Amino acid sequence: MELNIAISPSEKEVAKIIGKDNWVDLINSKTNDLPMKCCFCNYPEKEENFVRINLNPKLRYHILPFSQELDIKKDFHKLDIVVTCDACHAIQHFDNAVEKNWIKLVNSSFNQVDLVKICRWGNKMVNAYITGGFRVEKNIFPLKKKPETYLIEINESPLNLNNKIKVIFTKNFDWSNCR
Ligand SMILES: [Zn+2]
Ligand SMILES: [Zn+2]
Repeated sequence: MELNIAISPSEKEVAKIIGKDNWVDLINSKTNDLPMKCCFCNYPEKEENFVRINLNPKLRYHILPFSQELDIKKDFHKLDIVVTCDACHAIQHFDNAVEKNWIKLVNSSFNQVDLVKICRWGNKMVNAYITGGFRVEKNIFPLKKKPETYLIEINESPLNLNNKIKVIFTKNFDWSNCR
């Protein structure tokens, strides 16, 4: 699946609306066949991580956007669920990520998954792509636009979503579940 900034329905809210028992039903009925790796960035790619994650799952269930006409209280089984890592999940819940001060806006010819992977490697790598240097060409360009401003624009109209605007993570984001 392609990873872009999105404001997705909150799982907490959905669980509240459909009730805890239905939520558990939904998860159990949908997730048996799902691979236990992030549907966007494939985390954890390494076999040893895969085992670790299976023993101690830190991946998240994510509900894909659904039609406003869907009565989720009655038709909750029609909701689509995917599995994501914390980082990709943050990008799918841009509003929450902005509120928590987890992200900065950038331009880059890297796609958003590449940017997640670079951030996962660590700040040194991110900074190398921002400043350019030995063997690394500048390819991450921080934007002056504040995430808060962009969030307001998107909330005004989804048409203001611009797939050229991507994100990197601030030091406030906790990678401990997905690094
Ligand atoms: Zn991911
Ligand atoms: Zn989600």
